[in-house]
Amino acid sequence: MSAAAETLAPSSATREFLDQDHKLFINGRWQRSSTSERTVVVDPATEAQITTTAIAGEDDVEQAVAAARAAFKGEWSKINSHNRTRLLLKFADAIDANMALFSELEVLDNGMPVGIATYCVRKAGSDFLRYYAGWCTKIHGQTIPVSPMEAANGDTLTYTRREPVGVVAAITPWNAPLPMAVMKLAPALATGCTIVLKPAELTPLSALLLGHLAKEVGIPDGVVNILTGHGSQAGAALVAHDDVNKIAFTGSTEVGRQILQQAGGNLKKVTLELGGKSPVVVFPDADIQRVIPGVVRAAYFLQGQNCMAGTRLFVHQDIFDEVVNGVADVVSRMKLGPGLDPSSEMGPLISAQQRETVMGYIQSGKESGAKLITGGEALEGKGYFVQPTIFSHTNQDIKIAREEIFGPVLFTQAFGDSDLQAIADEANRSDYGLSGSVWTRDISVGLKMAALIDAGQVSVNCHAAVDAAIPFGGNKLSGWGREFGQEGLEPYLKTKATTVLF
Ligand code: NAP
Ligand code: MG
Repeated sequence: MSAAAETLAPSSATREFLDQDHKLFINGRWQRSSTSERTVVVDPATEAQITTTAIAGEDDVEQAVAAARAAFKGEWSKINSHNRTRLLLKFADAIDANMALFSELEVLDNGMPVGIATYCVRKAGSDFLRYYAGWCTKIHGQTIPVSPMEAANGDTLTYTRREPVGVVAAITPWNAPLPMAVMKLAPALATGCTIVLKPAELTPLSALLLGHLAKEVGIPDGVVNILTGHGSQAGAALVAHDDVNKIAFTGSTEVGRQILQQAGGNLKKVTLELGGKSPVVVFPDADIQRVIPGVVRAAYFLQGQNCMAGTRLFVHQDIFDEVVNGVADVVSRMKLGPGLDPSSEMGPLISAQQRETVMGYIQSGKESGAKLITGGEALEGKGYFVQPTIFSHTNQDIKIAREEIFGPVLFTQAFGDSDLQAIADEANRSDYGLSGSVWTRDISVGLKMAALIDAGQVSVNCHAAVDAAIPFGGNKLSGWGREFGQEGLEPYLKTKATTVLF
């Protein structure tokens, strides 16, 4: 075996995990699906079939929701907040203890480079759980001075309690599999909810490993349930289920809309983290040495399959060529390759279908009269690789500037000496409003633009700052509600007001 092949071979622990007979995790047990059907998991860098996973059906959804309900009413409700903290911290430590395995599974499942996988497993995995572990003991209500009519001649006490909403169904996408799962699990467990998780069928592996660890660290049976399978089947059954109290969804705007329509039967709570087409606005005084790598990260992190991706780049005309040529120079030299190869800087797209979608957008860019600055081709051979691509155009009415591509395609446009409102209006000319960034050495311009950009999250001199403590979510078609931080607890809680008349 060549040195390169040795580097690329997954570890024996990963191979052992892949070779398992993967089942559904319901009520603390691994069980076969009621459908007996399997789905094939493919490594997008090699197109090789790496394992198969179970496809959950409606009966499995029934069992998982019943288990989550029983755990919510039973053992889990009796575990006090300090012990929930301890369990979440143990869960986080277990993720760290399996860091290499998680990272390799993320690479093989999704295609991302191994360094990015490891970063994500720590930052949006174990550290995310640790952040929410700290909240378990800090969720409380208030006492409120009141004077209801009956209390005219007596003393009263009114207090509120923050109670867990109950059974949560979490439905997650394939672009960052482990972070997406933990982003739902952590606030659900911190607040005392129970959960049924349906990961994306394309990337089910890290969620399954989370199920094994939940059991290992002693999270009571039924608190965490994991159903692999199809969105149109298990996902839709969870959304329609009358005993599910909340849907935590991350995915496309299109499916988000369907979920809203289907979730109305029992008026379950819904949070939606959806698509994006985020602006990156670069003023002429910006530090170009920071802007260039910043734009590369903003546009091409996770091969551009990133909801927060900065895919519309607006640069002042005085430095437009310097910035855009600088970005093109970096990305045209990027090494595309399998994520397990540590020298790979960008991996493949998730699937042949995604590659086809992205290539369709690139074709549309070419046909729309936009100037192709670099990239524009899919790589020959195995793996769903597409070159990092940049287009420029003088207006953003074309499809590649309007629609979320979810691939490595950056649209660029120059702007002149307009006032800030006019520049912001152009940056805001999108159906989405998830993220955005402003690049300038003038902090007052940075802060004014940050206020004018219509997005749930804006960064100055960086893009898409992600941390468990920073509220995250979208405006307009980018979604409903916020995750992360203290606000991220809210969708998992309900308030009960109690009044005592003495
Ligand atoms: P998707 O097609 O919307 O799928 C997301 C999840 O929903 C998957 O688990 C999917 O199952 C499931 N699903 C599909 N149809 C369903 C239905 N009718 N009822 C219930 N569940 C259903 O999105 P994707 O293609 O996986 O991911 C790409 C999209 O996610 C992009 O638009 C991106 O912007 C967005 N995204 C947003 C964020 C954010 O935080 N805002 C983060 C990452 C991605 P299957 O696996 O079977 O399809
Ligand atoms: Mg999909």
